[in-house]
Amino acid sequence: MVDLTLPIEKLKNVGAKNLPRLNKLGIKTVRDLLWHFPAKYDDYSRIVAIGDLEPDQRANIQGEVVKINVRRIFPRRLTIIDAIIQDDSGGIKAVWFNQPYIANALPEGTRVSLAGTVKLDKHGLYLSSPTYEKIHGDENYYSYNLTHTQGLVPVYPETEGITSKYLRFLIKPLLEEVAVPDPLPEDVRNRNGFLELRDALHKVHYPSILEESDRAKERLAFDDLLLFQIKALLERRKINQLKSLPVRFDKELITDFIAKLPFELTKDQKVAAWEILKDLEKSYPMNRLLEGDVGSGKTVVALIAAVQAAQAGYQTVFMAPTEVLAHQHFQTIQNLARHTGIQVGLLTAGTARSTTGETKKTDLKKQIASGRVKIVIGTHALIQKGVSFDELALVVIDEQHRFGVRQRAALVKDASKPSVPHLLSMTATPIPRTLALTIYGDLDISLIKEKPKNRQKIITKIVPPSGRQESHQFIRSQVKEGRQVFVICPRIELADPDKEVRSAGPQRKLNVLWADMKAVQEEYKKLSELVFPDLKVAMLHGKMKPKEKTQIMDRFKEGFIDILVSTSVVEVGVDVPNATIMMIENADRFGLAQLHQFRGRIGRGEHQSTCLLFTSTAEKSINQRLKALTDTDDGFILAEKDMAIRGPGEFFGSQQSGLPDLAMAALANVELIKKARAEARTMLKQDPNLVQYPLIKQQLLRFQSLVHFE
Ligand code: ADP
Ligand code: MG
Repeated sequence: MVDLTLPIEKLKNVGAKNLPRLNKLGIKTVRDLLWHFPAKYDDYSRIVAIGDLEPDQRANIQGEVVKINVRRIFPRRLTIIDAIIQDDSGGIKAVWFNQPYIANALPEGTRVSLAGTVKLDKHGLYLSSPTYEKIHGDENYYSYNLTHTQGLVPVYPETEGITSKYLRFLIKPLLEEVAVPDPLPEDVRNRNGFLELRDALHKVHYPSILEESDRAKERLAFDDLLLFQIKALLERRKINQLKSLPVRFDKELITDFIAKLPFELTKDQKVAAWEILKDLEKSYPMNRLLEGDVGSGKTVVALIAAVQAAQAGYQTVFMAPTEVLAHQHFQTIQNLARHTGIQVGLLTAGTARSTTGETKKTDLKKQIASGRVKIVIGTHALIQKGVSFDELALVVIDEQHRFGVRQRAALVKDASKPSVPHLLSMTATPIPRTLALTIYGDLDISLIKEKPKNRQKIITKIVPPSGRQESHQFIRSQVKEGRQVFVICPRIELADPDKEVRSAGPQRKLNVLWADMKAVQEEYKKLSELVFPDLKVAMLHGKMKPKEKTQIMDRFKEGFIDILVSTSVVEVGVDVPNATIMMIENADRFGLAQLHQFRGRIGRGEHQSTCLLFTSTAEKSINQRLKALTDTDDGFILAEKDMAIRGPGEFFGSQQSGLPDLAMAALANVELIKKARAEARTMLKQDPNLVQYPLIKQQLLRFQSLVHFE
């Protein structure tokens, strides 16, 4: 019996040439090989009598080679093999190019099985380069166990030099020889109607009907989903054993603070704030994700928690992904908290500012260390490096889903203090529920679905090439009335995407920034020189220095710039109420959820806002997809749609989630996810250390080493 952990170089059919190619597909062990699932199946389940063949039919035929010969066409160095295959009903020609060895492999008299598409030319029907395999032994063709030409034939993800035929040739015999212990106990399998692992593997590679492969995939996806759930529960258990500063929920104080806000909180904001304040009372760390569309008012909810912590004598740190956003948070928080007398500080690579009047970094750091400044706002990079707190109770992070316990603990440098601050992470990415349950199973989630009442509906329009001029005129008229415009353009495709992928790490990041800059520069040139030479156009891209970016953003906010051209990656969530137009170039190249995010940057003020989706095509199907945006402004509906259209893998990126493809695909299957949650709970309840499930435990370790969270 072959062991699943056996390295593939030990297999006799894997040579020195193919080993690196297989590695490139991520295949290193027999397990990897067997878990390299077909992308689809070619349906050759019907054996067709040659006399019944029709043009364009995809078919399996079985017969005898009655004639075969090789022709060489010298000037073009072409070798052509012509063969005639015959069964009881008739004969057909088969043609192959540049594979002279086939003549030796299939001498006249050989019984052969062919699979391919039937073609028609002036001489009649023929098969062009069909897949072939010899039939050995018995007269009765039907009893043969064919690999490449009969039944549902697996088609695998391939790479240069590694064909599906070769993979079938490796995988099929292994399925018989390998020992596949099942990590799922029988009662779990029975309860859920799952196939045994060995059976599932057989059926995912060689199903006899498609339904079989569906059942097999469900079982295999379940294994991954279960691991995700177990991992989340273990993570949660670990966190619940850690110590945090409990912050008493002072209802009077909070009611008063809310009453003094310049606007009324939405119901969802109130509920979220309440959930957070309840969590803060606990002596183990909160682990909560605050999800709300752009502009839904997450900052003030986090601020409520920070105010409560401050009144209890503790500190809060807000970490923003960029300097621009850190500045913006500082302004908002400073305004909203002014009457409370709580001291607020801003610390970024470029600046130090504080309500205490401090403008020197070193002095501000001292005030943070002494506990005088209670709310500290900064960028991730800076805060994590050189800041000591007095008593840090709460960490708020913006636009990043995860912030590990270890990273949090590192912020508390005094070993005598409770070790891990509470965490509130905020995101404007509406995450479909199944995805959240799976990937963020260790987080509690608060949702803000409702928008503040004063928001205007944004008009969204799809602009085909013929409508450009009119839109440009509209933009000009809006600018004349004093409004401002965001322009987003997608990255120009990198010259060699393959190279981009291979060069991971800093080089890749550089390439990406480079491509971004080029896209922005071209658009900037076009708009500033040709389309709007009379208006003030500026650009923003990832290769600029943080200070430059902040300056441009500030000038835009202050109204000195009419039109700001930027890439998709810069400054999610900036708040410029006077910007009322969002123009997106090549909108069809973005996902719905992302387009919705861009749109969320406008519609924040009193004026009517418009989002213009420029497309380079008038093609119906593409514009149909974009139409979803004109139909709804609910980010959650759009996210679900986006996931349905593009598939969960594209929507979220398998890389980012760490979920294998099958499990990704299974995210559409709510029932399966519920089952995985339930089984994970039961297992851990009965057996907290998974002693009875050594195989699952082993997989968990393997899996943890594979998954890298943000
Ligand atoms: P996001 O959820 O995108 O981070 P912000 O917290 O930046 O949104 O809020 C966007 C704007 O809406 C801010 O100017 C904020 O002061 C304002 N705001 C927040 N809540 C409300 C509300 N309930 N009513 C009116 N305006 C609000
Ligand atoms: Mg925000």
